[in-house]
Amino acid sequence: MALIQIAEPGQSTTAHQHRLAVGIDLGTTNSLVATVRSGEVDTLPDAEGSHLLPSVVHYGEDGILVGEQALQYSVSDPLNTIVSVKRFMGRGIEDINTDDAHHSYHFAKTDSSVPRIKTRSGNVSAIEVSAEILKALKKRAVATLGDELSGAVITVPAYFDDAQRQATKDAARLAGIKVLRLLNEPTAAAVAYGLDTGNEGVIAVYDLGGGTFDISILRLNKGVFEVLATGGNSSLGGDDFDYEITRWILQQVKQQHPELAEFDTPEIKRLIMQQARRAKEALADVDEAAIELELNGIQWQGSLDREQLKQLLTPLVKKTLMSCRRALRDAGVGNDDIREVVMVGGSTRTLLVREMVADFFSCELLTGIDPDKVVATGAALQADVLVGNKPEDEMLLLDVIPLSLGIETMGGLVEKIIHRNTAIPTAKAQDFTTYKDGQTAMAVHVLQGERELVTDCRSLARFELRGFPPQVAGAARIRVTFQVDADGLLIVSAREENSGVEASVDVKPSYGLSDSEVETMLRDSIEHAEEDMHLRSLREQQVEADRVLEALDSALAVDGEQLLSADEMSAIQAARQQLADVKQGDDVEAIKQAIKQLESTCEDYVARRMNSNIKSAMQGHSIEEYASGPESTAEAEES
Ligand code: ADP
Ligand code: MG
Repeated sequence: MALIQIAEPGQSTTAHQHRLAVGIDLGTTNSLVATVRSGEVDTLPDAEGSHLLPSVVHYGEDGILVGEQALQYSVSDPLNTIVSVKRFMGRGIEDINTDDAHHSYHFAKTDSSVPRIKTRSGNVSAIEVSAEILKALKKRAVATLGDELSGAVITVPAYFDDAQRQATKDAARLAGIKVLRLLNEPTAAAVAYGLDTGNEGVIAVYDLGGGTFDISILRLNKGVFEVLATGGNSSLGGDDFDYEITRWILQQVKQQHPELAEFDTPEIKRLIMQQARRAKEALADVDEAAIELELNGIQWQGSLDREQLKQLLTPLVKKTLMSCRRALRDAGVGNDDIREVVMVGGSTRTLLVREMVADFFSCELLTGIDPDKVVATGAALQADVLVGNKPEDEMLLLDVIPLSLGIETMGGLVEKIIHRNTAIPTAKAQDFTTYKDGQTAMAVHVLQGERELVTDCRSLARFELRGFPPQVAGAARIRVTFQVDADGLLIVSAREENSGVEASVDVKPSYGLSDSEVETMLRDSIEHAEEDMHLRSLREQQVEADRVLEALDSALAVDGEQLLSADEMSAIQAARQQLADVKQGDDVEAIKQAIKQLESTCEDYVARRMNSNIKSAMQGHSIEEYASGPESTAEAEES
C-alpha cells in the first residue's frame, strides 16, 4: 500500500522539453522496460529482438550474467543461478523455508536478519540480485534511446508490504535508477488499456504471472480510478503449474523406470521443469505437446494434452477464483457489476485460465495487449506523466488499507475504527469513555487485523492519554481519531473533549507485515468467525457484569444501610453473589439472566436513591444505564 498515484501538477515542466523516463515491470519470472516515444508507448527489445528479460542472474567464473544468458546455466549450474528472487525481497530469515522446492540455490547461514544466497561470488541478498536485473534494463533503455535516464516507475504486486516495497526501492538505488514512484502492477495494467478515459464502471484486473497472483477491483469515476479492493496469493502462479506438470511427469517416469531412483537432484528437477513449462506454453496454441527427456542416459518420451492439463491445473485456477470472490465481497460488488476483466501475466495465456475466469465473471476479458507487456506499458505511461512530459494529464488512483485498524477496549476486545479496504487517505473518529470513577488516564492500544480479540491481532503501538480531570465513570468524552495519509502513514490521536487534554502517536501500519501474514490473518478471521462471536459476546457480558457489580457496591457503600431493610439487603446480596458466580463461567445467557435478576431486585433501591437527594457516586444515573443491553458495546459509541 502506501501509494497515491497522482500526477502532481507541480511536477510538470514545459511540454517540449522531453525527458527520458521508463516503466519497469520487475517480475518474478520476467522483467521488461517500456517507454513513450513520439507519443507511442512500447516495451524495448534487446539486441536479439527479445522484449522479455528473464529475471535470472548467474554468478559465473567470468562474471555476472543476466537474463537469457543466465537462464542457460539454470540446469548446469543451479546453485549459482538465481531465479525467482522476487519471492525473497524484503523477507527475513524466518520467512524463508529452506526446504522450499521453489528454489534450487542455497541460503547462507549468517547472523544477519537479511537472508543471503550462497554463490561463488560470495553471499548476495535479494536486493543485490534484483539490482543486477534493473541494471540490465537500464542499460537496455540507455543504449536504445541514447539518452540519460531521468527516472523510472517500477511496479510491485499490490500485496507487497512496506518492507518489500522498500527493498525494491533499495534495489533501484543500487542500480543507479531514480524511482519516480512504485506502482501496483494491476493498476498499471488498467492504465495501459486506457481504461481511465473509458466508460465509468467497475473493472477487475486478474494478474497471474510466474510466481504471484493478484486480483484488484477498480472503479472508474469521473476519470479517477479508485481501488475498491485488492487480494491474491503471493505464492501461486505459472511456476506452480510447472510443479504440477513436473510431478505428473515424474510419476510416469518412475513407474516406467524404477531404476531411476535419484530424481531429486536440482539439475534433474530443473530439466524436467523446463520441459514441463515448454509443454504448458505450447498448449496455448496446440492441442497436444510432446515431452522428451534424457535422464542419466535413459530416454523418455511422453505427451501432454489440453484435457490432461485441465485436470492438473483446475484446482489451482479455482484457488485464484476464491481470491476473486473474496475481493468482490470486500469491494461490495457482485460478479454482474464487473464490466471488464483485464488479463495480465503470461499464465493468462493458458486457455483453461481464460475459460474459467470468463465463466466466473461472465463478462468480456481484455486480452488485446500482450499480457506480458501490459504492466510495463502502463508503468511507462505513468512515468511519462510523472516526469513532466504530459502536463495536461491527470491520473488519480487511490489505494486501500489491507487490514482493519482499531483499538483495544475492555475485556481484551478490538474495536475496529477503520475497516479493511477503506480507500486512503481517510480519517475516522470514535468516542470512548472512562470505565471507573475518578479515572485520569486511558491507555490506547492500536491494533491491526480482522479478528475480535486483541491476542489474535497485530499490535502496532501503545500510548497513554494522561492528566485529564477525574470525573464519574462514563462522564469523560475521549475522542480517538485515526488518520491515514496518502502514503499509508497512520496517526492516532486521543483527546479528552471536556478538558482538551491530548496525546498522539505515529504508526506505520503495515511495517514488517508480510503478505502471507496478511493472508493467514484473513483466513483465520473467516475460520474463527463463529468462535470469535461467542467470545466477543461473553467478554462483553463479563464487562457488563463487572460494571453492574462495581456500581452497586459503590452505591451500597454510600447509602445501602440507610435505604435498605435487612431483608432487602440480603436479597440484593444474594442476587449479587449469583451474578459474581456465573460471571466466572462461559455461559453468556446465564450472565445476561443474572444481570437482569440483579437489576430487578435492585429496582426499588434505585428508585429510592433517585428520589432521595443523597449525592452518590452514581450521580443521577440509573443502574440500568450502567447495565445497558448486550447489543450496545458498553463503552464505545460510534460518532
Ligand atoms: P511474472 O509477472 O511473475 O514475471 P510473467 O507475467 O512474465 O510472470 O509470466 C510468466 C509465466 O507465464 C511463466 O510461468 C510462464 O510459463 C507463463 N507463460 C508464458 N507464456 C505462456 C503460454 N503461452 N502459456 C501458458 N503460460 C505461459
Ligand atoms: Mg507480472
